[in-house]
Amino acid sequence: MAILDGALQQMRTVPEIAVRGKRVQSRLLLPSMGGASQRLGTALQEPLLAVNDAGNWPAYLSLLSGGELARRVESALRMLERCHVCPRVCGVNRLADERGECATGRRAVVASYHLHFGEEAPLVGWGGSGTIFFTHCNLHCQYCQNSDISQLGEGVEVAAEELAGMMLQLQRAGAHNINLVSPSHVAPQILAAVAIAAEAGLRLPLVYNSGGYDAMPTLRLLDGVVDIYMPDAKYADEAAARQLSWVEHYPQVNRRALREMHRQVGDLEVDPRGVARRGLIVRHLVLPERLAGTAQVMRFLAQELSVDTYVNVMAQYRPCYRADDSPALRRRISQDEYHQAMAVALSAGLHRLAR
Ligand code: SF4
Repeated sequence: MAILDGALQQMRTVPEIAVRGKRVQSRLLLPSMGGASQRLGTALQEPLLAVNDAGNWPAYLSLLSGGELARRVESALRMLERCHVCPRVCGVNRLADERGECATGRRAVVASYHLHFGEEAPLVGWGGSGTIFFTHCNLHCQYCQNSDISQLGEGVEVAAEELAGMMLQLQRAGAHNINLVSPSHVAPQILAAVAIAAEAGLRLPLVYNSGGYDAMPTLRLLDGVVDIYMPDAKYADEAAARQLSWVEHYPQVNRRALREMHRQVGDLEVDPRGVARRGLIVRHLVLPERLAGTAQVMRFLAQELSVDTYVNVMAQYRPCYRADDSPALRRRISQDEYHQAMAVALSAGLHRLAR
């Protein structure tokens, strides 16, 4: 705790940062690096950090040398032409800047990036999780707590070089990882940025922090690139997903995606200091009236992935955005509902539950 307090004391808020002449209105928190704002391009010239202790970690380094990472970038960018980057398969030409359900064109849009100390403990360590919040989402959760970003489009378009610069800047600030929030609709743009950043010295593991509605072809391109997957498991019931997140077949898609993520990275591994190195973290937000299907979700995780799955059973639901449109969503969950959720997780055999 003393280490964390010290790190927090060293931090300062940088109110905004230049991105292609515009400003990301940022909740940007970085240790002092000189200058209240900084051109992102300069981060590309920063010296390499000696933060790595093995040639094959983070995973993308082994793909970088043989040219495989570049091939993955090409394949991923081709997916944008008739977009099937996520399971919605809109078919629009995002290379020509057309927009589908996620309202994102050729370039990724970033709302903010910063060191985050509120994520799961293995991601935060003492240096923080280097979080990049992508604007828009391939889900339309009617209770979203970040609807300004996910649904209303707050953010600034960035080129791959600028996104790479953000990653390098977060590394220089002391982050333990690059935490990509809502990445599912911009996976090709992320891959392109990682290839640039890795060449320029990025040596932090990537955290793929998604809503759990991810397409298999996209996940296969991320195999060997992402070290830590952190998907949601939002619903066990298709009707609930359709009504509350405006999405079809969420449970089936989610289960297939989680199986693939687990196949790629396995259960969560931490280093001797407790910092995440590789593996799967699953988040499950408990909703009122058992709308999230917590018992079924926990049984799936325990029985079809592993009883060693690291799970964050989250209690922080509060009515936001359009939650008032659904009577059941107009209240927070009760203590009793949360205790029941934890009890079903434990009775399913899960024992690595985030506190
Ligand atoms: S990434 Fe966006 S445009 Fe592409 S299929 Fe998904 S929602 Fe549609």
